[in-house]
Amino acid sequence: MRAIVFPAPETIALETVPDPAPARDEVVVQVDACGICGTDLHIYRNEYMSDFPLIPGHEFGGTVVEIGRDVTDVAVGDRVAVDPNLYCGRCDFCRNEQANHCANWQGIGITRSGGFAEYVAAPARACYHLPAALDATQVAFIEPLACVVHALRRFPVHPADRTLILGAGPMGLLLVQALRHSGASLLAVTERQPARLALAQELGATVAVPADADQKERLEELSPRGFDVVIDATGLPRVIESAFDYLAPRGRYLQFGVTPMNAEIRLRPYDLFHKDWTIVGSFALCYTFQPAIDWLANGVIDVSRLVSHRYPLEEFETGFQAFARGDTLKVHITRDPAG
Ligand SMILES: [Zn+2]
Ligand SMILES: [Zn+2]
Repeated sequence: MRAIVFPAPETIALETVPDPAPARDEVVVQVDACGICGTDLHIYRNEYMSDFPLIPGHEFGGTVVEIGRDVTDVAVGDRVAVDPNLYCGRCDFCRNEQANHCANWQGIGITRSGGFAEYVAAPARACYHLPAALDATQVAFIEPLACVVHALRRFPVHPADRTLILGAGPMGLLLVQALRHSGASLLAVTERQPARLALAQELGATVAVPADADQKERLEELSPRGFDVVIDATGLPRVIESAFDYLAPRGRYLQFGVTPMNAEIRLRPYDLFHKDWTIVGSFALCYTFQPAIDWLANGVIDVSRLVSHRYPLEEFETGFQAFARGDTLKVHITRDPAG
């Protein structure tokens, strides 16, 4: 089959590799669509936990074309989304409902072959059956959306919170939609790109603030005593450092964006103490695929306008570099780029 390989950091190759064969408890999925994600950029730049060579791609779904001999609950022809996070089920973390911290964690597209390929092998236990109505675009959004579900389950959101989301990339735009249902009294979004800001407003932000020299003044005007909730969806250390300028006393801060592993910010512990702040992190997802599927199937979250570009596997590098430059919203690598 054809697959995208990162043979080494900062290198992309389209290669012909052996078709995956399913282990006893695995299935092989023909990939319909796979989303390019900020994490793929971190992997490419060797800023993440992956080793090389790697077939990346962890936001995908498709049709099962082969099953291992012990697989009973997934059949050839089933349409499935695959949770790329593989948990062992035996370690202390798995047994304490913290599977995303599994001591033996493996990630499809992170530590083993992923979805930027025609086919990918995955354990049957990681497969979720899909409602027929979900299209390939929606299916490739289940994984990022499952991260949003996990974050909001960890993060206390209260009625009428004054909420600030930093960044209106694809993740920021999912957060906007998820939070507009939480009853925020003010849902402000900051972002550099005007088109993304406009979309944030259409998808539920009450106010869109350009991330320019006037941002601070504008935000202070909007909520003079600060925001009850501030969420970083940029992963940019300088943005994160400034995020605390906007956090009200008793405020809650959510680190959702992924920074490079060695990034550092400055934060005054006195502020954390004196302002009664709560700081929450959220890593990946934790058995939150099904609620994400439900969000999409019931029309609560609309992803149809979050994909700006679709490319076939052969044009992965074009899409990836455009995504890396920040010229795009979500980019999907699809079997049928027209659909
Ligand atoms: Zn991702
Ligand atoms: Zn485990």
